[in-house]
Amino acid sequence: MMEKYNHECSRKVKDVSLQDLRDMLAEFARARGWEQYHSPRNLLLALVGEVGELSEIFQWKGEVAKGLPNWTSDDKEHLEEELSDVLLYLVQLADVCGLDLGQAALTKIVKNAQKYPVNPTSHA
Ligand SMILES: [Mg+2]
Repeated sequence: MMEKYNHECSRKVKDVSLQDLRDMLAEFARARGWEQYHSPRNLLLALVGEVGELSEIFQWKGEVAKGLPNWTSDDKEHLEEELSDVLLYLVQLADVCGLDLGQAALTKIVKNAQKYPVNPTSHA
């Protein structure tokens, strides 16, 4: 799994599944003996820490235009890294809780659609 992505990392990977990320992260932790530290609570706290790092990027900037037209490539790379940290901890948290995050997210979207039905008159 990891070898596949090491090889493919230099070019764009078409579709990355949450399951692929989950499996890669589990292998990454297992290989380093880190599983013992990856309790649900520890992963949640790590996730919150990364959300803080993500927030710092936007802090004091005022409103930011979609597409980040005025950001440097370094700023965008930093944002990509912190967004990824958040995603990776989220995936690991769901994994150690024994949940299928992809399936759960699909179910939640369906629930949200039922809760908030489309109202054709609400937008022009
Ligand atoms: Mg980070």
